Amino acid sequence: MLVIDPEECIDCSLCEPECPVTAIYAEDDMPEDQHEFLELNAELSLIWPVISTMVEAPPDAAEWEEVKEKRQYLER
Ligand code: SF4
Repeated sequence: MLVIDPEECIDCSLCEPECPVTAIYAEDDMPEDQHEFLELNAELSLIWPVISTMVEAPPDAAEWEEVKEKRQYLER
């Protein structure tokens, strides 16, 4: 899981088509069942490290692509 700092985002939408699992939405286009992630995204963007270099996806990324309801696995 990645988050986007809403204070840094300029809403250019370039990231949306690049996300391989279609997980990024403009706020106005966000499905109703995803709205809970707005606040979580903003909160985590303040405490998670900034990614400044490209890294390989985790080895089990493909196994999680289609899994829904993953929020219970989030560790803080
Ligand atoms: S690429 Fe995505 S996260 Fe970055 S500024 Fe544009 S819309 Fe925001």
